[in-house]
Amino acid sequence: MYPNVLLFINGQWGPSAAGRTLPVVNPASGAQIGTVARAEKADLDRALEAADQGFKKWRKVSAFDRYKIMRKAADLLRERADLIAPLMTQEQGKPLPEARAEVMAGADIIDWFAEEARRTYGRVVPARAENIYQLVIKEPVGPVAAFTPWNFPINQVVRKLSGAVAAGCSIIVKAPEETPASPAELIRAFADAGVPAGVVNLVYGVPAEISEYLIPHPVIRKISFTGSTSVGKQLAALAGKHMKRSTMELGGHAPVIVFDDADLDAAAKMLSGSKYRNAGQVCVSPTRFLVQEKIYDAFVEKFVAASKNVKVGDGMEKGTAMGALANPRRIAAMETGIQDAIKHGAKVQTGGDRIGSKGNFFQPTVLTEVPNDARVMNEEPFGPMAVINPFRNFEDAVKEANRLPFGLASYAFTRSAKTANAIAAEVETGMMTINHLGLALPEVPFGGVKDSGYGTEGGADALEAYLNAKFVSQAGV
Ligand code: NAD
Repeated sequence: MYPNVLLFINGQWGPSAAGRTLPVVNPASGAQIGTVARAEKADLDRALEAADQGFKKWRKVSAFDRYKIMRKAADLLRERADLIAPLMTQEQGKPLPEARAEVMAGADIIDWFAEEARRTYGRVVPARAENIYQLVIKEPVGPVAAFTPWNFPINQVVRKLSGAVAAGCSIIVKAPEETPASPAELIRAFADAGVPAGVVNLVYGVPAEISEYLIPHPVIRKISFTGSTSVGKQLAALAGKHMKRSTMELGGHAPVIVFDDADLDAAAKMLSGSKYRNAGQVCVSPTRFLVQEKIYDAFVEKFVAASKNVKVGDGMEKGTAMGALANPRRIAAMETGIQDAIKHGAKVQTGGDRIGSKGNFFQPTVLTEVPNDARVMNEEPFGPMAVINPFRNFEDAVKEANRLPFGLASYAFTRSAKTANAIAAEVETGMMTINHLGLALPEVPFGGVKDSGYGTEGGADALEAYLNAKFVSQAGV
């Protein structure tokens, strides 16, 4: 059922020139389920040539015609959701309904970018003299290189792919080797919808080899990366050295501030649901829970009860709420973080261990009273772990929220409009959602500040990342 995944270069699916592959493993069983083609320099050169030629064609296609092809790709993705979702669950571990929802959300993102590209208006700037026309024209930036991770195999690709293609750019996607089949189906939807050869290209391989070759290459004009802050800093430095525009969507460690006037039941229910989605392997996952003293014990009790109720199992089985972690590195990171927190005096309220020895299953875990010098208070857990600490007043909560160099997502719960406004103003963050879970829709900004990166992958600003503003001043003759 699971395919051997190929490269897609210049409109053709095929193996790498050298015929080398990498294994793909099901994280729920540990068994190899397929392979993915491993691109090397010769393949990258073909992809670069294709992207160069593809851009020359695609930039001439009107926004209206690009829109029609993209809308078709979105429809194909929706039609194929039931075929694509099991591929994602087998390669990534997330429960089937989450995988299906990701495919459907991907289609909505394609639609939104397709529509928005029809509104990439330029401007006419009033001139200082008669008979002069000053125009600002939006042009596609050129061939894009995109690097995406394994936690959302489709949705990490689709924002970059849709932004680039809608704006009139071509793209080489370096998709995740550990979860290659579902992003390949996303690319197939674009190909089947009629995107010309060379506009969309897909490679896999050794990530560092590919980024070190593509980023400096003169054909590539724009970089977009999603992944860890440490890798993001390396790639941003390389992009800077070669004067390439870049968007960096990096790690976070989201503060969740629950004030004592919050709707406690609603907050505990929403946050526990959100915490274990995709087994916590989400860059905007709620991670540092700060709960005001008066309601602290009650919140912990409710959150722990909800955590104990999460049904962990193979994502392909009906009723599974949390699947296997995507790779063994996450199990090791969870174990190291928990042991270190215990050493620093943290209490394990529930969980704390892996489940069985087959597959990467881990217990939903709640740690409390975790001191700031424990690793989990400083490094994104990126797993099914909530860290809950009490705070005294507004100032203490803000201080803790802003203590880390990250600033991606943040959450607050309060019934006071004054507190809601104040906390939104004070927290250094790219996104804040208050009293509900409202992040990541296609039409709203998605991105971070500080070490969480720069640029946004949602809303109208996301399209700007793929456009140059060209100024033309013309005198009438
Ligand atoms: P990692 O830091 O090595 O890799 C993260 C991602 O970057 C992977 O997709 C990987 O293929 C890619 N990558 C690594 N080196 C690269 C390079 N030189 N050039 C191009 N791409 C490169 O480690 P990991 O074990 O895969 O993930 C660990 C951490 O990464 C997590 O703890 C989390 O903090 C972060 N992460 C963040 C996101 C996100 O959505 N922002 C997604 C996945 C992982």
